Amino acid sequence: MTAPMPPGQDCLQCGRCCERWGWGQKGIAEDLIPWLTSGRQDILRHVSILLADGTKLSGTSLSMADLPRIARIRYWQDPDGKELQYCPFFWRSDDGRSWCRIHDVKPRVCRDFTPWNWKNLEYYGSCPACRDKAP
Ligand code: SF4
Ligand code: SF4
Repeated sequence: MTAPMPPGQDCLQCGRCCERWGWGQKGIAEDLIPWLTSGRQDILRHVSILLADGTKLSGTSLSMADLPRIARIRYWQDPDGKELQYCPFFWRSDDGRSWCRIHDVKPRVCRDFTPWNWKNLEYYGSCPACRDKAP
């Protein structure tokens, strides 16, 4: 919801992208570094990690030394390790606009969500801001 859009094309903060694709996504080790170094347990407890040796753990049990051993990172889980089918950081205000509670440190998959740059109709066609500008 925050990557630069072409001039005159503004995100409407409808939240559709976060509601539809904001969970079940794969992460990368680089996402975890700022969360680990700044002690963001509130985020890490929602991260599911699979190590190369098959060990499954929560982001809260992870250390920087574990990063090279990570085989898979998945967003998001509840603190007990159950997979979530929504993003726990998504929030909708009373005026209907949507917000990301971890906007400044959100994962790469969210930062790189730029459907206005893509030809994939599933993404592009689901974003009202993009659709308004479709040829
Ligand atoms: S982390 Fe933020 S941008 Fe990513 S899905 Fe959740 S609310 Fe949306
Ligand atoms: S679907 Fe499009 S308009 Fe809606 S929040 Fe996402 S980027 Fe913004």
